[in-house]
Amino acid sequence: MASGDGIQIPSRLPLLLSHEGVLLPGSTVRFTVDSPRNMHLVSQRLLKGTSLKSTIIGVIPNTRDPEHDTDDLPTLHKIGTAGIAVQVVGSNWPKPHYTLLITGLCRFSVSTLLKERPFVLAEVEQLDKLEQYTTPVTEGATAKGGELGELSHKFYQAAIQLLGMLDMSVPVVAKFRRLLDSLPRETLPDVVASMIRTSNKEKLQVLDALTLEERFKKALPMLTRQIEGLTLLQKTRKISPEKEKRVLSVRKGGALRGRQFNLEEEAEDEDGDDTAVLEKKVHAAKMPEAALRVCLKELKRLKKMPQSMPEFSLTRNYLDLMVELPWSKSTKDCLDIQAARTLLDNDHYAMDKLKRRVLEYLAVRQLKASLKGPILCFVGPPGVGKTSVGRSIARTLGREFHRIALGGVCDQSDIRGHRRTYVGSMPGRIINGLKTVDVNNPVILLDEVDKLGKSLQGDPAAALLEVLDPEQNHSFTDHYLNVAFDLSQVLFIATANTTATIPHALLDRMEVLQVPGYTQEEKVEIAHRHLIPNQLEQHGLTPQQLHIPQDSTQDIISSYTREAGVRSLERKFGAICRAVAVKVAEGHRVTVTDASTSKRPALQGGFNSFHVCSDKAAVPEMPIVIDHVALKDILGPPLFEMEVSERLTLPGVAVGLAWTPLGGEILFVEASRMEGEGQLTLTGQLGDVMKESAHLAISWLRANAKTYQLTNMGGGPDPLEGTDIHLHFPAGAVTKDGPSAGVTIVTCLASLFSGRLVRSDVAMTGEITLRGLVLPVGGIKDKVLAAHRAGVKRVILPKRNQKDLEELPANVTADLDFVTAANLDEVLNAAFDGGFPGIASSHTQPQLTSKL
Ligand code: ADP
Repeated sequence: MASGDGIQIPSRLPLLLSHEGVLLPGSTVRFTVDSPRNMHLVSQRLLKGTSLKSTIIGVIPNTRDPEHDTDDLPTLHKIGTAGIAVQVVGSNWPKPHYTLLITGLCRFSVSTLLKERPFVLAEVEQLDKLEQYTTPVTEGATAKGGELGELSHKFYQAAIQLLGMLDMSVPVVAKFRRLLDSLPRETLPDVVASMIRTSNKEKLQVLDALTLEERFKKALPMLTRQIEGLTLLQKTRKISPEKEKRVLSVRKGGALRGRQFNLEEEAEDEDGDDTAVLEKKVHAAKMPEAALRVCLKELKRLKKMPQSMPEFSLTRNYLDLMVELPWSKSTKDCLDIQAARTLLDNDHYAMDKLKRRVLEYLAVRQLKASLKGPILCFVGPPGVGKTSVGRSIARTLGREFHRIALGGVCDQSDIRGHRRTYVGSMPGRIINGLKTVDVNNPVILLDEVDKLGKSLQGDPAAALLEVLDPEQNHSFTDHYLNVAFDLSQVLFIATANTTATIPHALLDRMEVLQVPGYTQEEKVEIAHRHLIPNQLEQHGLTPQQLHIPQDSTQDIISSYTREAGVRSLERKFGAICRAVAVKVAEGHRVTVTDASTSKRPALQGGFNSFHVCSDKAAVPEMPIVIDHVALKDILGPPLFEMEVSERLTLPGVAVGLAWTPLGGEILFVEASRMEGEGQLTLTGQLGDVMKESAHLAISWLRANAKTYQLTNMGGGPDPLEGTDIHLHFPAGAVTKDGPSAGVTIVTCLASLFSGRLVRSDVAMTGEITLRGLVLPVGGIKDKVLAAHRAGVKRVILPKRNQKDLEELPANVTADLDFVTAANLDEVLNAAFDGGFPGIASSHTQPQLTSKL
C-alpha cells in the first residue's frame, strides 16, 4: 500500500454533472453531454488545456431530471468520482453535444463551490488513495485479516464463480478475468459493480460507501444476485449451457463497454429469447437450401457478436428481412376467362383492342402455366388507364398487385439493392415489393419504364433486363440479399408514355400495346360510367345528392381540361364533389328553382346556381344539379377557350398537329416578315429537325414563288429579297422537334407571302421534301383526336397515312373532313378557302435556286 498522501488529484476540480450514469473508480464510462454548463466545461477546459492535469475532472451524479434542468445549480450529490477524460468527440447532430470517455480515478467530496458559471468549479477533498487502482496486486494488499479479509475473500470467490459461468472466448470476459487477478482486492467492489449489471441507484450506493468494508457489503449482494440469476436462467431456459454462456457473455460485452446503465434487466433477458425466436423463424421461412445456409451462418455470427457492435443491427436487419420474404408463399390463380372479360369490361370503358389482347394473354397463361411469353407493355399518354388495367389484371387473376414507379430511377441499386458492406444498405425495389405484398407471385407493374435514367452507378435498365428475362429471373440476386430469389412466378407488366426512350434491349423483351387517348364522346362515357360514380363514393355522396348532366361533363372536358387521358377530368369531378359535400354537410337547404330559368336566387354563402331538378314531383332539394353556371362557380372561369378560329385572323398563321408523349396536340405556327437581308429567325425552342423543315419550306416556296405568285414585301418575285422572316412556334418552353410540322410551315409561309388567310378550321401534319412531296408521319390517331378536341373540321394528312384513319372511332371520322395529300400543291389547295391555284402545273420539276 502506498503510504502518506500518495498521488494527489488537483484540489480544485471542474465538475461534470452527470444525468445518465455513475462513474466508479477503476471503470471507464461514456458520457454524452449537452447541457450548457457541461458543454462549457468541455470547450473551455478539456479542449483548451494542455497539461495532463487539465484532463482531470470531477463527475458528480446529478439525480435531477434533465427535463426540468433550470439555470440554477441543483443541490449536488456530496460524493463524486474524479476521472480522466481519455477521449472527447464533438458532434452537431442531432443537436450540438460532446461524447466523453472518462476513466474513474478516485472518490472525492465537495468542500466548497467556487463558481457556478460557465461551468461548476469546486474545492474538493480526495477520499480514496489513487495508487490502489494502478498498483499491481501485492501480498500486503490481499493478506487482510479479520472481517474485511473475509469479506474480500468471499467477494473474490464470487467473482471467480461468475467468471466460470461466462464464455472466456469473448474478449471482454477475458479482460474481466485479467483485471480480477491483477487489481488489488480493495478496488474490486468498484470495478465489479461497474462491470456487472447494476442499476444507477445501486452504483450510487457503492459510490457513497466510503469505507472499504461498507463497499464490499454493498457490492457483494449484487454479485451473488447476478450469479443466482444466471443459474436460474440456465435451469429454466433449458438451453445448452454453452449457448447460455454465449448469450450472457454478449450481455457482459455490452456491460463492460459502459452501456449497462440504461439497460433494464427484463429487456435484456428477452434478447436471448429473441435470437432463439429468430432461429425458429429462419427454419420456418421455407427458404431454399442456399438461402437457409446463409441465414444459419449469419445467425451464428450474430450470436457471437456483442450488441453494441454496429454490425449486430445490420445482421439482425438482414435476418429479419430474410425470414419475412415470401420464399414459398403464393396465392392461387383463379382464372376464369369469362369472368375476366366481364371484370375488364366493367372496370374500363372502350380500349377494346387492349382488353382483347390482355384476355388472349391471360387465356394462354391459363393453358400453359409456365408461360415464358413477352412482358406486356402499355404505351400511351397519362391518365388513359394503363395502371388501372394492370390492377384489373391482378384482380382477375386473384393476385396481389404492386406498383413500382421507375420514373427518374438512375441507379441500378434501386432495382438490385445495395451490397451489405455499405452503411444504410437496402434491398432493391423488387425485393421490397415482394416483402410488402408477402407473396411470391404478385402482379408487379413497372410504371414509366421510358423514364429510366442512367448514371455512373450502373444502368438500371440492365438490372431490369435480368428481372424480366425468364431465362434468368428464377435466380434473381439482389445485392443486399446476396442469395437468389425466384421471380419466375411474378407477372410483370410495364407502362410507358412513349417507346422512343425505352432502352432497346428492354423493348425487345416486351410486347407493346398502344393505349391511345380518348375522344370527347368516350370521355363522356367514361366519366358517367366510372369517374363520377367513383368520385361520389370517395366523397361519401350518392347520385341522389349530386347529379352532373352530360352537357356539363362535355363542358368540363372541353373548357377545363385539355388532355388525352381522363386524369384531370377525374380531378375536376373531385373538386365538384368536395364543393357539394361541403354544402350537403352544412345541411344547406337549397331553394327549388327551375333548371331552365336563368335568374336564380343567390344562395347564402354558396353557389348561386345550385338548384334541384326541375322535376318538382321528385324529392324537393336533392339532387344538386351541376349546370354551366354552377361549373363556373366551382371550377372558376374556363381554362381553355376554343382559340383556333380566333387566332387565324391574319395571314401567316397555320395550325399543325404534333405528337408528344402526353398525347396529340395542336400546334400554332406564326410567321412575320420585315425589311432585311433575307435572314430567317426561328424561335420557340425548336429541335434541329424542325429547323431543317423550316429551311426546306422556305427553299421550296422560293423555288415555286412564281407558280404561286408569291412576292416579297415590295412585290418582287423572290419572297426573301430585302426581307427578313421570323417563324415562331408559340406555346411554352417545351422543346419541339420532328419533321411533321413541314407542311404547316409551308402553309404558314405561303399565307404570309400571298397575304391570304389560312382556313380557320383546318389543321395539318406531314413531312416535306425539297421537291414538294409529302411524306407520312407517325402518331396519326393521337393527332387527329387532338384536332377533334380543338374543334377543327378539316385535317390534312399525308396520303400514305390514309390507312391509319381506320383505327379512328367512327364518331370522330364522321365529324372531320380528311384530305390526304401526296404533295404540297394538294396541301395548299386544301388549306385555303377556294384553293391555292398555281399558274403552272405543280408537277413540273421546281427549279432549285435556293442558296439556303
Ligand atoms: P395511366 O396509368 O395511364 O396514367 P391511370 O390508370 O392512373 O392512368 O388512370 C387514371 C384514372 O382514369 C383512373 O382512375 C382510371 O380508373 C380512370 N380510367 C382511365 N381509363 C379508363 C377507362 N377506359 N374506363 C374507366 N376508367 C378509366
